[in-house]
Amino acid sequence: MKYIRKTSPPPPFFITDTQRLASWKRYRGHKKRKLKEYIIENEQFGLCCYCEKQITIDTSHIEHIKPKSIDVLNLTFDYANLLVSCEGNHFNEMGDNSKSNCGQFKDKIFDENLFLNVTLVANVAEYFVFDSEGVISSSQIDEAKAAYTLKLLNLNGKNNKLAEARKIAKQALIRNLTNFPVAVQKEKLRNYLQNNSSEFITFLRYIFRYA
Ligand SMILES: [Zn+2]
Repeated sequence: MKYIRKTSPPPPFFITDTQRLASWKRYRGHKKRKLKEYIIENEQFGLCCYCEKQITIDTSHIEHIKPKSIDVLNLTFDYANLLVSCEGNHFNEMGDNSKSNCGQFKDKIFDENLFLNVTLVANVAEYFVFDSEGVISSSQIDEAKAAYTLKLLNLNGKNNKLAEARKIAKQALIRNLTNFPVAVQKEKLRNYLQNNSSEFITFLRYIFRYA
């Protein structure tokens, strides 16, 4: 996870589209898609807000960071509370469509004092470490918050499948780099790590932090 800067004030189309709505259900599908598209492109650079898998409008949903059920009146259309998450079933075994990680897994359970909110904690990436297998765990900054957040989002996935996907992304990157002369590999890697839309970017930045 890494910090996500929310547009402030919210984009005018969001205010127009939601100002008279009584409930989330009344928010029409095509208008939700427009919001998703805006957030994915402009705030999340194509990645899930939690696991950083690449997402599209069709493979994602609008995520209430604080579940709207906590305070329907104030949270449902609070732009600062909205992100876009993957559906949490991408890394399951074949045929398993259950929600195994990220926003859909998190559901309605929420402790605001423990959850690391990616829109509020500027150095959120530093709360986590990864091993060479792609497994994420808490750093020493605040183990209670990091552990709570990891558990709520299940960021290693069911049977560590999400961790495995991170490891595969790392291997693919290394393979790709070996196609270039050693002299340009470092530059290629640096450019790749600067790109906010690279899948699992926080993991890769951590793994190659001394490169
Ligand atoms: Zn995700």
